[in-house]
Amino acid sequence: MELVINLDYKNKKYNLNRKLIFSFTSIMLLGIITIGIFVNLIVEKKFAEYVSQRNEQEVENIKEDIQLSYKGDRWNTKKVQKIGLNALNDGMLLDIYDNNNNLVWSATKYDEDMCHQKMNDIRSNMDNRYPSLDANYKEEKFEITENSEGIGTLSIGYYGYLYYLDNEMDFLNDINRVIIVVATILILISIILSILISNSISRPIANVSEMAKVIEDGNYKNKIEYKSSIKEVDGLINSINKLADSLNNQEVLRKRLTTDVAHELRTPLTSIQTHLEAILDGIWEPTNSRITSINEEVIRLANLVSKLNSLSKLENNEQKLNIQNVSVSNLIQNIIYNFQSKAIAKNIDINYKVENFYADIDKDKISQVVVNLISNAIRYTDEGGKIDINLKQDLIYTYISIKDTGSGIPQMDLIHIFERFYRVDKSRSKNTGGIGVGLTISKAIVNLHKGDIKVKSTVNIGSDFTVVIPRNLLNS
Ligand code: ADP
Repeated sequence: MELVINLDYKNKKYNLNRKLIFSFTSIMLLGIITIGIFVNLIVEKKFAEYVSQRNEQEVENIKEDIQLSYKGDRWNTKKVQKIGLNALNDGMLLDIYDNNNNLVWSATKYDEDMCHQKMNDIRSNMDNRYPSLDANYKEEKFEITENSEGIGTLSIGYYGYLYYLDNEMDFLNDINRVIIVVATILILISIILSILISNSISRPIANVSEMAKVIEDGNYKNKIEYKSSIKEVDGLINSINKLADSLNNQEVLRKRLTTDVAHELRTPLTSIQTHLEAILDGIWEPTNSRITSINEEVIRLANLVSKLNSLSKLENNEQKLNIQNVSVSNLIQNIIYNFQSKAIAKNIDINYKVENFYADIDKDKISQVVVNLISNAIRYTDEGGKIDINLKQDLIYTYISIKDTGSGIPQMDLIHIFERFYRVDKSRSKNTGGIGVGLTISKAIVNLHKGDIKVKSTVNIGSDFTVVIPRNLLNS
């Protein structure tokens, strides 16, 4: 049996909400715990300083009080005992000797059990709080004087400065308890806040992702109608909506293309079919002119298929440009030369100012563009019209303008003429033999050259198509 253990942690996917909650909570926990530890350390330090000062003061007070218990060459043992018991209560064991070293009063002598009890309590308090510290019991001896004359000795025994009395321990424990309660409340609040913040970030993203799924299923017309308070999420919604729009346009275009192609193929095919059937059925004689007419339809069909083929190659970026520095003026002149007979047949005058300009272009493809534009100009210009062809250059661009005095294009059609199969006047185009892909192909070619085709047109006055191409494509 094969055992596969997945150690690919990086590829493990987490829910955004959970990840955010986990991150926020961890950061807040870390902060709260650090602050808690700091507060605790500061309190302990300050409290230890206070206890140490308190001890020093206490020792001074005891010395003063003991001295005052000596009146008229005698010790006031009652007073001494009171001071001794108070000191015992504060964790200090007193032994007072007179000048002859006779014991006046001793805490251990007075009540040994109580002394043990008290000192043990202090010891265990210290052990609990500072287990690593050794309890340092010390005894200090002081000379008691009156008017600079020795009257006895005072011995004070107590644990070092870190000893805490019960009430001080209680105080410290209370502070610790308050820190723990406050920290717990803060942790709870931070968890709730983390959940709220994480939800406010992850919910809009989850919503957008849900809605995007609807679009992903092909419902491109659906729009994400969701306003988020997060700028980036709004940007994402905008992009998805634009993507859906563009997919929708592509879809419409794809469907229209299929119908258009079917329609364009059907018309000449039906015409060929009916003509051939009429000849086969003996209704028509297979005369030369009839066969020529069928042949023209076949040529039209082949022409359409070849244009569609080159358009699809251009649009799929399958066509690579063969850029060379060539004389644009020569190229245009040759094309005009080839169109002369057609122009003369329609009594159309073609004017072209010869100026020798060079540019970096794909010669064959730009020829195709100029051929399309001149052929359109001749096609849509009535007999006796005029076509002006101009070539201009500035530092960056080459401009080829083909201006006719033809039928012109209505303003509302101008934005559509570069779309596939778009024809302004379908019946007229039929007569003129156009199929509505010439401008689409031309624009695709010029765009491949990083240029553009601009058009100005007025109905019944004429049209002016200008091809704009960058001059130095080879160096860019
Ligand atoms: P077509 O093969 O039909 O000429 P094009 O793509 O070349 O297709 O042109 C699209 C449409 O733009 C034409 O059907 C025509 O209506 C209009 N058009 C193009 N050039 C001209 C022009 N010079 N004068 C008037 N209309 C034009």
